[in-house]
Amino acid sequence: MEAVHSWWTVRGEGEATSSEHRIDVRFSPLVIHTNRNWKTAHSASTTRTNATFHVAVDGTEASSEVGLPPFKPGIYEGTAEDCRDLSIRFAYHLTFLLGTRVLASGTTSACRETLNLAQGGDGGGDGGLAIEPASERERILVTALRALDGCAASGRHPNAALALVETAILRCLSRAMGIPVPSLLDVCGGHQGPVRCFYTVGMAADRNLLAEDVRYGSGNTQFLKFKLDKDAEKALEVFSALEAEGLLVAGRRTVAIDANCSWDPEFAMDFLARLQKYLPHVYMIEQPFPFEMPFSEAAKVGAGWARFKDKCTECGIVVYADESMRTSADVAALRPYCHGVNIKLEKAGGYREAARAWKACKASGMGVWLGCMVGTALNCNVIVEILGLSDGSVDLDGFLLTSPGCQPCDPSFRLAEGPDGLKGCIELKVAE
Ligand SMILES: [Mg+2]
Repeated sequence: MEAVHSWWTVRGEGEATSSEHRIDVRFSPLVIHTNRNWKTAHSASTTRTNATFHVAVDGTEASSEVGLPPFKPGIYEGTAEDCRDLSIRFAYHLTFLLGTRVLASGTTSACRETLNLAQGGDGGGDGGLAIEPASERERILVTALRALDGCAASGRHPNAALALVETAILRCLSRAMGIPVPSLLDVCGGHQGPVRCFYTVGMAADRNLLAEDVRYGSGNTQFLKFKLDKDAEKALEVFSALEAEGLLVAGRRTVAIDANCSWDPEFAMDFLARLQKYLPHVYMIEQPFPFEMPFSEAAKVGAGWARFKDKCTECGIVVYADESMRTSADVAALRPYCHGVNIKLEKAGGYREAARAWKACKASGMGVWLGCMVGTALNCNVIVEILGLSDGSVDLDGFLLTSPGCQPCDPSFRLAEGPDGLKGCIELKVAE
């Protein structure tokens, strides 16, 4: 798949008409290799094609990456081809909005369509931001956001593709204005304390592979999240392996479980009974219920999932939704069945919708976990910009799950020892 590079030289607006400004945007596919066999209750893969996007205005630049898992209707919809398609249409829309200000422009892949203004040729508005752009560079970036919103209004682009372009534009605007991304989104005042990062251990073919992955993960963070399916024996094996390695710390809940939609209420209750000995180490159980829950009446299985939530509360464990949580519109329906939701930019469609989802969670007393797809350090760096939206737990482990050879940059953070003496706390690197 070919990269797409588009550029413009434009005249300034208003009093700045004598100034000239340079805009560059570039979509590139990014082939990533996972460090180990990545298996979940959904899928198994070792190579994927993610997408990156780069925005530069007058030398201020920023990049983004989205992780693109194997296609799952309603949950993971978005391929690198979709991202490339959006980047072409986005450039076309931006050209339209820049209008007669364009002095020169070029692209490596032109859009062959007529712009349909009825489908949102001009997104209009101010991009829904909490700021007023002051400089020509900032105004250009807000115009870029409007062009993206124009594309989004057509309803044809998956959220992962929209997140790719949106996060690059907003990271660039944040740098141009010298203010953090949460200030652009009006979501300051989130979590201020330490944030612990979980490492995700995929489902292993045998005990040796499991132990190897656990050792690798625990060398970076003491907080581990295990992919499990509907097999309590396997879960017991995981916990006995952790016990054997001395990784269960008395009085500390350092384990999370991700069932990836694979349980039913009976199994879930039975799981708690069989794993009773280990429950004091479990912090969170993610997406035990099917994706269709709570959207389909049939999938609710009576009050079974609400009872499971109550039982977990008694055990000091929180239940979070992941696949069932996509945008802010899903939050209210999930509340009876979980204590919080896992917000991922690829599912939400970008920073702005993630901020709306966060506000919906705060309004209804729901917790927020920030997660990533399998991606490189660049994908993690995009998420770490909104770290305060989490309630103190995240899995920004993509850079550990992908091989060193495919990293386009270093992580902007490291995993350090937290105030509780456990390793795995996110510590932002100071920019040099
Ligand atoms: Mg998950």
